[in-house]
Amino acid sequence: MAHMSGGKGTLTDIGEALDMVLAETRPLEAEEVPLREAYGRTLATDVVAADDIPPFVNSAMDGYALRGADLAAGRRQFRLIDEVPAGRVSRLILGEGEAIKIMTGAPLPEGADTVAPIEVAEQEGATVSLRDTVAPSANVRLPGEDVRRGETVFTRGQPLGPAEVGLLASLGYARVAVARRPRVAILATGDELIEVDEPLRPGKIRNSNSYSSYGQVLEAGGTPVPLGIARDDLAETRRLLERALREDVVLTSGGVSVGEFDFVKVAQDELGVQRRFWGVRSKPGKPVAFGVRDGKLVFGAPGNPVAVMVAFELYIRPALLAMQGRRDIYRPHVWAQAEEEVRRTRNRVEVRRCVLHQRDERWFFTTTGPQGSGILRSMALADGLVFVPPNFAGAGPGTRLMVMLLSGTSAERPPFPT
Ligand code: AMP
Ligand code: MG
Repeated sequence: MAHMSGGKGTLTDIGEALDMVLAETRPLEAEEVPLREAYGRTLATDVVAADDIPPFVNSAMDGYALRGADLAAGRRQFRLIDEVPAGRVSRLILGEGEAIKIMTGAPLPEGADTVAPIEVAEQEGATVSLRDTVAPSANVRLPGEDVRRGETVFTRGQPLGPAEVGLLASLGYARVAVARRPRVAILATGDELIEVDEPLRPGKIRNSNSYSSYGQVLEAGGTPVPLGIARDDLAETRRLLERALREDVVLTSGGVSVGEFDFVKVAQDELGVQRRFWGVRSKPGKPVAFGVRDGKLVFGAPGNPVAVMVAFELYIRPALLAMQGRRDIYRPHVWAQAEEEVRRTRNRVEVRRCVLHQRDERWFFTTTGPQGSGILRSMALADGLVFVPPNFAGAGPGTRLMVMLLSGTSAERPPFPT
């Protein structure tokens, strides 16, 4: 197992660290929710259609229901015998030379198999004449043309967006089984931190990590449980960490380096958290301590505002999605060309924040200003993270590097450099 000791020792690669996190991640149980609450959740069962959609032959247009055989025989004039709006059924059977006025979505009358759109027809009293040709069977929607009865429409692990929820509604699902949302305790640490509504005073900064993490947890389908700020004090850190361990996942920020007042690792140890790794070969995001206790995932992320967000994207987000049974647990990635000089790196992968643009089918990136791990604006401006390999000598514009997007999902893991 990899360890980090005072800056020396072995650092874990990003990909290995992610493997270790996913190896400890188990899917959560299912719960049933009303359909309206299913948006943004993950399906916990397969969905088999109990009905055809649409359930009956119906008109795709406002127009006149006719017999295709009449059209094939060259007939252009019809006798109007009835009218059928959506939601009603005509009691008449359409005979030779007859037409029934029909609205979009209304069931086709017996005997009819074609709809002439209102735009090509002229009605005078009870006579309908066609101004244009209409192909037999045109403008008719067949039962099951969207979904066939007995068909598996979705499998478990399917994320539910607006279209999926709509389809579940047409299939008659008033309630649906989805994965429980993972609950994530969010704990900031640091004597320098004050709350967002407090005035600044000398030596203090506002706690921003708890808010960026809150948003990231929501975005990954989790329930954030903010637990405030732990002072740089072992007893307080341990007390709040113990409270945090009631949730599925614990995310602390700060206090996990090698400083004199960094108590997170000690508190983790005292509470029986089994460490899987500490120290990742990445910048930012080196001092990350990950361990488990009673099936709970315990992340000690660095305090720097960019570092904690990057660590979330790299390890926590995939874990939260996996807990919900998702297959698309990763962010999408592209290979993009630098539009600027790419600076050298030392012995760690550098994760720089960037903006992507597409030109002539190709992707290009530019980094978002100063890249210090405390510069949160570099993250606010970014739509991707560009991964520069360790011991990179530096290169001019045009260098192709892997960029992980900060939106969307993919089942394919980005090829993190080692
Ligand atoms: P640490 O990892 O505790 O040494 O913190 C590293 C840096 O991140 C320091 O400059 C902290 O002031 C800053 N920091 C730690 N926690 C937070 C937080 N919750 N919000 C904003 N900045 C923080
Ligand atoms: Mg600190």
